[in-house]
Amino acid sequence: MPSTIVVGAGVFGAALADLLAREQWDVTLVDRFEPGHERAESGGESRLLRFSHGSDAWYTRSAWRARELWRELERDTGSELLVESGLVWFARRDDGWEADSERALREEGVPVERLDLNDAEALYPTLGTDGLRYVLHEPCAGILRAGDATRALARRAQKSGAKLEHATARPDGAAVLLDDGRRLEADRVVWACGAWLAGLFPEIVRMRVTQQDLFFFDAPPEWNTPPVPGFVDYDGAAYGLGSLDSYGVKVAPDVEGLTLDPDTWPRAHAPVNEQRAREYARLRFPALADAPLKSVAVCQYSLTDDTHFIAAPHPEHGAAVWIYGGGSGHGFKHGPALAERMLAWLSEREGPEPRFGLGPRDPDRSLRTAGTA
Ligand SMILES: Cc1cc2nc3c(=O)[nH]c(=O)nc-3n(C[C@H](O)[C@H](O)[C@H](O)COP(=O)(O)OP(=O)(O)OC[C@H]3O[C@@H](n4cnc5c(N)ncnc54)[C@H](O)[C@@H]3O)c2cc1C
Repeated sequence: MPSTIVVGAGVFGAALADLLAREQWDVTLVDRFEPGHERAESGGESRLLRFSHGSDAWYTRSAWRARELWRELERDTGSELLVESGLVWFARRDDGWEADSERALREEGVPVERLDLNDAEALYPTLGTDGLRYVLHEPCAGILRAGDATRALARRAQKSGAKLEHATARPDGAAVLLDDGRRLEADRVVWACGAWLAGLFPEIVRMRVTQQDLFFFDAPPEWNTPPVPGFVDYDGAAYGLGSLDSYGVKVAPDVEGLTLDPDTWPRAHAPVNEQRAREYARLRFPALADAPLKSVAVCQYSLTDDTHFIAAPHPEHGAAVWIYGGGSGHGFKHGPALAERMLAWLSEREGPEPRFGLGPRDPDRSLRTAGTA
């Protein structure tokens, strides 16, 4: 079976290493830190798993398949990773992202319902409906415990035979040079280094790394997720969930932040984002208007110009070296399903997906939220 080095044990790299190891490939997974660490994009406490992707059926199918694979990982590892709380989209227009999503979900047979505002109010202890036309409810969507899920993937990979190396790596031709001086070679090398890809491959990877701040508000138990569903406001550039595992109600302004060097640590949140989160809580969840702030997390997005992922062979090394990332703030949920696609591409059973290629891209409608206030 082919040998592979996967550099980066975030959700992209860990899910790929896990699948390849289970397929009997000889896998070495390299990361400078422990899988699911707090500086990685995959290391947070929660990530939304939703199926709506506007009119894009490819991502809808991928997310739906991923749900099954996350459940399989739970069964294999005895861990609770996916909280099926449901998720709602706060639609401000009749003909926007939500309407396109609803059509695509119905065509794909993914459960979805359109709620009028009175019915939607029953889902939250209080819901402010100003500016909303309707609410789109995905009952099978939910929340992934992100750091735990990444660690579970890496653990299963190791159990299936993958070797985990703790080292900082850099490319050396088609090989991998570790900071302890070792030079590793394999039939396939996959660089799945999240926000660090741009610095490792400045000539070929076009990616913006932005600072994104998350706010957790103290709230009484009636705000716990589950049952309180996750939410996304596409046109309002905000998302969040109720209090999962006592973290507090999460409100995340999704306006694309300032450029960030992913090695910056410690980090301070932007006061303007705290103000945005407070205003959003006041608008949508009036009972939380003055809720005390419990904690703040400062993370990074690795954004491509069109928010489509990167999964492409290196132009100089053909099928031997791959660049894999560009999660663009919505990649987590897809991890295990994308790994299946990567298996097909790496083994050359299928040609790579053209829109995940390197090189310039035209800006497209964002697959996350509008990204602007
Ligand atoms: C605030 C926020 C909210 C998000 N919300 C959602 C959501 O609700 N739903 C969703 O699906 N997605 C969401 N995402 C996106 C998702 O989290 C990311 O797309 C995904 O985690 C990216 O994973 P990754 O494996 O590409 O990168 P990472 O998780 O960053 O992993 C990269 C790994 O590579 C390692 N590495 C880097 N360079 C080197 C090197 N030179 N040598 C060795 N190791 C190296 C790093 O240590 C790291 O562990 C969100 C992202 C953020 C930041």
